[in-house]
Formats: sequence, C-alpha cells, structure tokens
Amino acid sequence: MEADGGRDGQSAASVNSPDRVIYLDYNASAPLRPEALDAMLPHLRNGGNAASFHAYGRAASEAVGLARQQLAALLACSPSEVVFTSGATEANNLALHLAAARGDFIISSVEHPAVLEAAATYAGAMGNKRVSVGVNRDGAIDLEALREALADGRVGLVSAMAANNETGVLTDLAAIVEVAHQAGALVHTDATQAVGRIPINLADLDVDMLSLSAHKFGGPQGVGALFIRRAAQIPQKPLLVGGGHEHGWRAGTTNVAGVVGMGAAAAACAEQMDGEFVRTAALRDTLESSLVDKVADCWVNGSRARRLSGTASVTFVGAPADALMASMPRLAVSDGSACHMGAPEPSHVLIAMGLSRDDAESTIRFSLGYATTRREVQLAIEVTVAAVDRVRAMLGTRTTLRQQAARPRSTGDPVSAEGR
Ligand code: PMP
Repeated sequence: MEADGGRDGQSAASVNSPDRVIYLDYNASAPLRPEALDAMLPHLRNGGNAASFHAYGRAASEAVGLARQQLAALLACSPSEVVFTSGATEANNLALHLAAARGDFIISSVEHPAVLEAAATYAGAMGNKRVSVGVNRDGAIDLEALREALADGRVGLVSAMAANNETGVLTDLAAIVEVAHQAGALVHTDATQAVGRIPINLADLDVDMLSLSAHKFGGPQGVGALFIRRAAQIPQKPLLVGGGHEHGWRAGTTNVAGVVGMGAAAAACAEQMDGEFVRTAALRDTLESSLVDKVADCWVNGSRARRLSGTASVTFVGAPADALMASMPRLAVSDGSACHMGAPEPSHVLIAMGLSRDDAESTIRFSLGYATTRREVQLAIEVTVAAVDRVRAMLGTRTTLRQQAARPRSTGDPVSAEGR
C-alpha cells in the first residue's frame, strides 16, 4: 500500500490491495479499523458476560462502559442516553416503535428500507398514517411539503436520515427539528451514514432519537445504537423484552466485543474524522471529475455542496449498472444501495430525485473511506471508463447517445470537469 493515506492494517490492506479487488463500497460496510480489531481481540478470546458479578463479568462491563463513553463523546451526548442494539436496522425499529403511540409519522421519500418498512409496520399497528415527504433534484427534503404535512396536527414523529446511503446528500436536520418541534412532533434521524464521517453534536442538534451502526465507521458488523434524548421523556417500551438489559430499553446479552470495537472505532473517528473528510473529498472529486471528463453522457447525482465526502453516485446513460459491475470485477462498488440487492426495482432514492427508470438503473455508487488511496482511485477511473465503453459497445448504445445532442437531464446538472 502506498503512503497517501491508505493503512497497512491487515484487514483493510488485504481487502484494499490494488492488485486485488479495489474496495469502494464503504457505504455498504467499511473495513474494520485496526484500533477496533485490537480492542476487540481480548474480549473475543476471554468472553465474559457483562451482567455477571465475577471478575470476567466486571472486566466485560467496564469495557462496555468505556465504549459507551467513547460513543457518547463522538456524539456529544450523555452515555446514559445510548442504547446498544444489533445495528441500525434494530435502532430504527426501536425508534419508530417508541414513537408510534404519539401519532402519525412523516418520513422522507429517500429513507433506507429499515425506516420505510419499520414506519409502515408500526404506524399500521397503531392505526396511524404514514406521510412521505419528497425531495428536490438535489436530494434535499422539501421543507415546504414538511410544513404542510405537519399542519395536520396529528403527527407524532418526523424521521429524516442525516445522510443518504446512495447519494451521500446531507439533510438540514436543524431546520427539520425547528419545524417539527414547533408542531409538537418528535424527530428521529437515521444517522447510519453520517456518524464518524461528519461531526454530530447532540448538545446543539436537538433531535430526539438517532440511529447508528458500527460497521459504517470502521467498527464491526452486527452492533449499533439508538440515542434516546432523556429530556424528550419518551416512555420506555422495549421492542425486545427479556432480561432487562440496557436499563430496560433492550433485552439481550450485550455483544461485548462488538460494543468495544464500536467504541474504539468511535474514538478513532473523533480523532481522525476531519483529516479523513478532507482526504476522501479530494479523492472523490478526482473520481467524479475524471469520470465526467472522460465518459460521455455521465453525471453525478445529488447536491454538490451538501454531501458526505466519500460518496459518488454516478449515472452512465445507456450502461446498466448490473452489466457494468459484471464487466469490472476488480471494483467492489454498488448499484444504488447494497440493501436492495436482488430487488428488481430501480433505486427509490434516485427515482424520488427525478431520474428516469433507465437512468436510475444505470447508476453506480462509489463509496470511499478512511483506507482508500489515490492509486486505487486512479485505477478505478481507468477500469470504469473502459467498462462503460465495453458495455455501451456491446449494447450498441454509444452511437445513439452521441447523436442525441440535447438529451434532457432528469436530475442534478451534469458536472463538467471545468466547473469543479
Ligand atoms: N440505515 C442506513 C442509512 C443504512 O445505510 C443502513 C445499512 N445499509 C442501515 C440503516 C442498516 O444498518 P445495519 O446494517 O446496521 O442494520
């Protein structure tokens, strides 16, 4: 690995080695940070139930306590406001389950299925409505539509993701909190893609609940958390009942090694996030401007100004993403969202932003992260440009495209290399 920021940590290096597959799928799952692996190993070896009274139990419980502090420090909240879960899917389920008694839900149209499905389930169970609020061409939530939906007066919760998993577009949560709280509704945010990548200060940002997942910021898979603001006084109504763990919010033996890894990853992010943001943004800009420069009929989706630093959603007109990915096995990238794998429908996020079905199906998500190197990005550019040419030639789409002088764009202005 080269010295422009890539790590020599075993896990990341072996996955990211340029002569193997180039891993640009951090939004699906980021490689485990070396700090997280080191912190986890003793707990994987030694075991110990954090609820036991003996020395093993005390060691486990102390390590879990430290992890809770590390995560709370990253978010600027109190450790007692953190409930550990099996990941963001469970955290989202718990949040919507807790809020269902308060009234209708408003959710954005670009939420992850873990919010969309949970909202449908828990609203339905209480006989409540679920109102979806759209986004504009840049992927930003329509605040006017939100205000109108809130005017109904029966809204119990607004759920809006902090950063979109497919486009990286960031939500103006402060604005949403303001209008939602004025209307008496709680605010939940699925911050799975934002935590550890951009600063989140819960002392300033007055959301009532926030979901996160360790494996998106360099912790292990299968562990996450729900922040529940104490001042919001949300009545305790666990989704998982049993032994009363997590002070009654979520029963089930604590995943000690997982939680410890998440805490160590959170601490590493707190230290390294600013540098990583700048570095990945520069790499992402190189990737996007090179692709737009070298490939005809290609554009970047989502607001240029308000995005995560490492996400690039790029449409290659006339080159279906499944054919493209099959044609470039050296790149680990995603078509829209990995969570839709196997689903025949095009990305609901890109459709909500105004893309046509064909264009949504011709979109690749590149997601870069802490261990991505400049050399990997250069290779990814070469491999992608060649693959688009191959796929278009195979499907006979290239000549047709070049003949279409002014093809209407369905979303986001095409980025010209000069304009960047
Ligand atoms: N929300 C978002 C925005 C996500 O990107 C993901 C993971 N793809 C999830 C929720 C689900 O997270 P987990 O894997 O921890 O269940």
